[in-house]
Amino acid sequence: MIGQELVDSVLGDVDRIDDVAELEHLALCLRWPFDLPGVDAEWTAALIKPLERRGDELAAGLLVALAAFSHQPLGRQAANAVARLSGRGVVSPLADRVGMQRVVAASRHEIPDGEVVLVMMRRPRERAAQVGTVVIQSLPCGDVIEQVSVKPPVRRSRARKTLRARFRASAPRRLAPRALLERLDAAAEHMIDHVIDLDELSATWLPAVSRALTGRADALPQLWVERPAHDDSRRSSPAGARAARRAERTRAKNRQARAARKRNRR
Ligand SMILES: [Zn+2]
Repeated sequence: MIGQELVDSVLGDVDRIDDVAELEHLALCLRWPFDLPGVDAEWTAALIKPLERRGDELAAGLLVALAAFSHQPLGRQAANAVARLSGRGVVSPLADRVGMQRVVAASRHEIPDGEVVLVMMRRPRERAAQVGTVVIQSLPCGDVIEQVSVKPPVRRSRARKTLRARFRASAPRRLAPRALLERLDAAAEHMIDHVIDLDELSATWLPAVSRALTGRADALPQLWVERPAHDDSRRSSPAGARAARRAERTRAKNRQARAARKRNRR
Protein backbone atom coordinates (compact mmCIF):
# COMPACT_ATOMS: atom_id res chain seq x y z
CA MET A 1 0.00 0.00 0.00
CA ILE A 2 3.01 2.29 0.20
CA GLY A 3 2.47 3.59 -3.33
CA GLN A 4 -1.24 4.20 -2.74
CA GLU A 5 -0.48 6.22 0.40
CA LEU A 6 2.18 8.19 -1.44
CA VAL A 7 -0.12 8.94 -4.38
CA ASP A 8 -2.97 9.89 -2.02
CA SER A 9 -0.79 12.20 0.03
CA VAL A 10 0.93 13.85 -2.93
CA LEU A 11 -2.12 14.13 -5.22
CA GLY A 12 -4.85 14.23 -2.56
CA ASP A 13 -5.98 17.80 -3.15
CA VAL A 14 -4.50 18.38 -6.61
CA ASP A 15 -7.10 18.14 -9.38
CA ARG A 16 -5.06 19.17 -12.36
CA ILE A 17 -1.68 20.59 -13.38
CA ASP A 18 -1.59 22.81 -16.47
CA ASP A 19 2.13 23.49 -16.51
CA VAL A 20 4.19 20.77 -18.20
CA ALA A 21 7.35 21.59 -16.22
CA GLU A 22 5.42 21.26 -12.97
CA LEU A 23 3.90 17.96 -14.10
CA GLU A 24 7.35 16.61 -14.98
CA HIS A 25 8.76 17.78 -11.66
CA LEU A 26 6.04 16.04 -9.69
CA ALA A 27 6.59 12.80 -11.64
CA LEU A 28 10.36 13.07 -11.10
CA CYS A 29 9.81 13.47 -7.33
CA LEU A 30 7.52 10.42 -7.25
CA ARG A 31 9.80 8.39 -9.51
CA TRP A 32 13.15 7.92 -7.85
CA PRO A 33 12.32 5.57 -4.93
CA PHE A 34 10.77 3.24 -7.54
CA ASP A 35 13.65 3.50 -10.02
CA LEU A 36 16.59 2.21 -8.00
CA PRO A 37 19.05 -0.52 -9.03
CA GLY A 38 17.58 -4.00 -8.62
CA VAL A 39 13.96 -3.06 -7.90
CA ASP A 40 11.46 -5.64 -9.16
CA ALA A 41 8.20 -5.27 -11.06
CA GLU A 42 6.17 -5.76 -7.89
CA TRP A 43 7.81 -2.75 -6.27
CA THR A 44 7.40 -0.50 -9.31
CA ALA A 45 3.74 -1.58 -9.68
CA ALA A 46 3.17 -0.11 -6.22
CA LEU A 47 3.48 3.32 -7.83
CA ILE A 48 1.91 2.57 -11.20
CA LYS A 49 -1.26 0.83 -9.99
CA PRO A 50 -2.62 3.61 -7.76
CA LEU A 51 -2.01 6.14 -10.53
CA GLU A 52 -3.83 3.98 -13.04
CA ARG A 53 -6.69 3.45 -10.57
CA ARG A 54 -6.98 7.22 -10.15
CA GLY A 55 -7.46 7.26 -13.90
CA ASP A 56 -7.80 10.99 -14.60
CA GLU A 57 -5.86 13.28 -16.94
CA LEU A 58 -3.42 14.22 -14.19
CA ALA A 59 -2.60 10.57 -13.49
CA ALA A 60 -2.27 9.93 -17.24
CA GLY A 61 0.17 12.84 -17.55
CA LEU A 62 2.25 11.62 -14.61
CA LEU A 63 2.39 8.15 -16.17
CA VAL A 64 3.59 9.64 -19.47
CA ALA A 65 6.35 11.43 -17.55
CA LEU A 66 7.26 8.27 -15.63
CA ALA A 67 7.55 6.42 -18.95
CA ALA A 68 9.76 9.21 -20.29
CA PHE A 69 12.16 9.43 -17.35
CA SER A 70 12.43 5.92 -15.87
CA HIS A 71 14.57 2.85 -16.32
CA GLN A 72 12.96 -0.60 -16.49
CA PRO A 73 10.73 -2.05 -15.22
CA LEU A 74 9.13 1.25 -14.10
CA GLY A 75 9.23 2.89 -17.54
CA ARG A 76 7.61 -0.03 -19.33
CA GLN A 77 4.87 -0.39 -16.71
CA ALA A 78 4.12 3.31 -16.94
CA ALA A 79 3.93 3.15 -20.75
CA ASN A 80 1.55 0.17 -20.57
CA ALA A 81 -0.67 2.02 -18.09
CA VAL A 82 -0.70 5.06 -20.40
CA ALA A 83 -1.88 2.81 -23.26
CA ARG A 84 -4.65 1.26 -21.15
CA LEU A 85 -5.90 4.67 -19.94
CA SER A 86 -5.80 5.99 -23.47
CA GLY A 87 -7.91 2.99 -24.56
CA ARG A 88 -10.53 4.22 -22.06
CA GLY A 89 -10.31 7.72 -23.52
CA VAL A 90 -8.18 9.23 -20.72
CA VAL A 91 -5.30 11.20 -22.23
CA SER A 92 -3.25 14.03 -20.72
CA PRO A 93 -3.47 17.28 -22.71
CA LEU A 94 0.24 17.76 -21.90
CA ALA A 95 1.30 14.31 -23.15
CA ASP A 96 3.03 15.40 -26.35
CA ARG A 97 5.18 17.99 -24.53
CA VAL A 98 6.38 15.73 -21.72
CA GLY A 99 10.01 14.63 -21.97
CA MET A 100 10.59 16.79 -25.05
CA GLN A 101 13.14 19.17 -23.54
CA ARG A 102 16.53 19.10 -25.23
CA VAL A 103 19.81 20.62 -24.14
CA VAL A 104 20.43 23.51 -26.55
CA ALA A 105 23.53 24.98 -24.87
CA ALA A 106 25.90 24.23 -22.03
CA SER A 107 28.66 26.13 -20.27
CA ARG A 108 31.24 24.96 -17.78
CA HIS A 109 32.81 26.79 -14.88
CA GLU A 110 35.85 25.63 -12.96
CA ILE A 111 35.54 25.52 -9.19
CA PRO A 112 37.95 24.13 -6.56
CA ASP A 113 37.99 20.30 -6.88
CA GLY A 114 35.70 20.22 -9.86
CA GLU A 115 33.40 21.93 -12.23
CA VAL A 116 29.92 23.38 -12.48
CA VAL A 117 28.07 22.79 -15.75
CA LEU A 118 25.01 24.87 -16.60
CA VAL A 119 22.65 23.51 -19.26
CA MET A 120 19.88 25.35 -21.05
CA MET A 121 16.99 23.04 -21.94
CA ARG A 122 14.09 23.87 -24.20
CA ARG A 123 11.05 22.23 -25.81
CA PRO A 124 10.68 22.59 -29.57
CA ARG A 125 8.73 25.70 -30.59
CA GLU A 126 8.44 26.95 -27.01
CA ARG A 127 9.73 30.26 -25.74
CA ALA A 128 10.58 29.31 -22.19
CA ALA A 129 13.74 27.47 -21.17
CA GLN A 130 14.92 25.73 -18.03
CA VAL A 131 18.43 25.96 -16.64
CA GLY A 132 19.94 22.90 -15.04
CA THR A 133 23.01 22.86 -12.82
CA VAL A 134 25.36 19.88 -12.65
CA VAL A 135 28.17 19.94 -10.11
CA ILE A 136 30.91 17.44 -10.89
CA GLN A 137 33.56 16.73 -8.31
CA SER A 138 36.95 15.57 -9.59
CA LEU A 139 38.68 12.99 -7.41
CA PRO A 140 42.16 11.77 -8.34
CA CYS A 141 40.70 8.52 -9.67
CA GLY A 142 37.67 9.95 -11.47
CA ASP A 143 34.59 12.14 -11.36
CA VAL A 144 31.59 12.09 -9.04
CA ILE A 145 28.17 13.66 -9.73
CA GLU A 146 27.96 15.91 -6.71
CA GLN A 147 24.65 17.59 -7.42
CA VAL A 148 22.02 18.01 -10.14
CA SER A 149 19.14 20.46 -10.03
CA VAL A 150 16.86 22.20 -12.52
CA LYS A 151 15.15 25.56 -12.09
CA PRO A 152 11.57 26.34 -13.20
CA PRO A 153 11.10 27.76 -16.72
CA VAL A 154 12.25 31.31 -17.49
CA ARG A 155 12.48 33.36 -20.67
CA ARG A 156 15.04 32.11 -23.15
CA SER A 157 17.03 35.34 -23.00
CA ARG A 158 17.34 35.07 -19.25
CA ALA A 159 18.46 31.45 -19.45
CA ARG A 160 21.09 32.41 -22.00
CA LYS A 161 22.33 35.18 -19.74
CA THR A 162 22.66 32.75 -16.85
CA LEU A 163 24.87 30.47 -18.97
CA ARG A 164 27.10 33.37 -20.01
CA ALA A 165 27.48 34.92 -16.56
CA ARG A 166 30.42 34.26 -14.30
CA PHE A 167 29.72 31.56 -11.75
CA ARG A 168 31.27 32.62 -8.45
CA ALA A 169 34.64 33.82 -9.78
CA SER A 170 34.83 31.51 -12.76
CA ALA A 171 34.29 32.66 -16.34
CA PRO A 172 32.15 30.31 -18.46
CA ARG A 173 33.54 28.12 -21.24
CA ARG A 174 31.39 26.45 -23.81
CA LEU A 175 30.81 22.75 -23.49
CA ALA A 176 29.40 20.44 -26.13
CA PRO A 177 26.32 18.56 -24.82
CA ARG A 178 27.94 15.33 -26.06
CA ALA A 179 30.97 15.97 -23.82
CA LEU A 180 28.70 16.48 -20.82
CA LEU A 181 26.95 13.17 -21.51
CA GLU A 182 30.30 11.36 -21.68
CA ARG A 183 31.39 12.94 -18.40
CA LEU A 184 28.15 12.05 -16.64
CA ASP A 185 28.34 8.49 -17.92
CA ALA A 186 31.92 8.03 -16.73
CA ALA A 187 31.09 9.65 -13.39
CA ALA A 188 28.06 7.37 -12.90
CA GLU A 189 30.18 4.26 -13.60
CA HIS A 190 32.82 5.56 -11.21
CA MET A 191 30.18 6.11 -8.50
CA ILE A 192 28.93 2.55 -8.95
CA ASP A 193 32.51 1.25 -8.54
CA HIS A 194 32.93 3.20 -5.30
CA VAL A 195 29.37 2.72 -3.97
CA ILE A 196 28.81 6.47 -3.94
CA ASP A 197 25.12 7.44 -3.91
CA LEU A 198 23.21 10.37 -5.31
CA ASP A 199 21.37 12.68 -2.94
CA GLU A 200 17.58 12.97 -3.23
CA LEU A 201 17.60 16.21 -5.16
CA SER A 202 20.09 14.92 -7.72
CA ALA A 203 18.16 11.66 -8.03
CA THR A 204 15.06 13.69 -8.79
CA TRP A 205 16.66 15.78 -11.54
CA LEU A 206 19.38 13.63 -13.15
CA PRO A 207 16.91 11.82 -15.46
CA ALA A 208 15.60 15.19 -16.70
CA VAL A 209 19.10 16.26 -17.72
CA SER A 210 20.02 12.86 -19.13
CA ARG A 211 16.83 12.69 -21.22
CA ALA A 212 17.37 16.27 -22.44
CA LEU A 213 20.86 15.21 -23.57
CA THR A 214 19.82 12.02 -25.34
CA GLY A 215 16.04 11.77 -25.77
CA ARG A 216 16.26 8.51 -23.84
CA ALA A 217 15.22 7.53 -20.34
CA ASP A 218 18.00 5.03 -19.70
CA ALA A 219 21.05 6.80 -21.14
CA LEU A 220 22.83 6.76 -17.78
CA PRO A 221 23.13 3.77 -15.44
CA GLN A 222 20.85 3.60 -12.40
CA LEU A 223 22.44 4.89 -9.22
CA TRP A 224 21.63 4.32 -5.58
CA VAL A 225 20.17 7.17 -3.57
CA GLU A 226 21.01 8.14 -0.01
CA ARG A 227 18.28 7.34 2.43
CA PRO A 228 16.40 10.55 3.25
CA ALA A 229 17.24 11.90 6.68
CA HIS A 230 13.57 12.27 7.55
CA ASP A 231 10.50 10.79 5.93
CA ASP A 232 7.58 12.31 7.86
CA SER A 233 7.31 15.46 5.81
CA ARG A 234 6.03 13.43 2.86
CA ARG A 235 2.65 12.96 4.56
CA SER A 236 1.95 16.68 4.55
CA SER A 237 3.15 17.28 0.99
CA PRO A 238 0.17 17.58 -1.32
CA ALA A 239 1.91 19.04 -4.33
CA GLY A 240 5.10 19.09 -6.33
CA ALA A 241 6.08 22.49 -5.00
CA ARG A 242 6.14 21.17 -1.47
CA ALA A 243 8.04 18.09 -2.55
CA ALA A 244 10.58 20.42 -4.12
CA ARG A 245 10.92 22.47 -0.96
CA ARG A 246 11.41 19.28 1.01
CA ALA A 247 14.14 18.25 -1.40
CA GLU A 248 15.80 21.64 -0.93
CA ARG A 249 15.75 21.16 2.84
CA THR A 250 17.27 17.69 2.72
CA ARG A 251 19.88 18.94 0.29
CA ALA A 252 21.68 20.91 2.99
CA LYS A 253 21.71 17.88 5.29
CA ASN A 254 22.89 15.58 2.53
CA ARG A 255 25.68 17.93 1.65
CA GLN A 256 26.96 17.89 5.21
CA ALA A 257 26.78 14.10 5.32
CA ARG A 258 28.62 13.82 2.02
CA ALA A 259 31.32 16.19 3.18
CA ALA A 260 31.77 14.09 6.29
CA ARG A 261 32.04 10.89 4.25
CA LYS A 262 34.53 12.54 1.94
CA ARG A 263 36.69 13.53 4.91
CA ASN A 264 36.53 9.94 6.18
CA ARG A 265 37.64 8.56 2.84
CA ARG A 266 40.79 10.65 2.80
ZN1 LIG B 1 37.69 6.50 -7.84
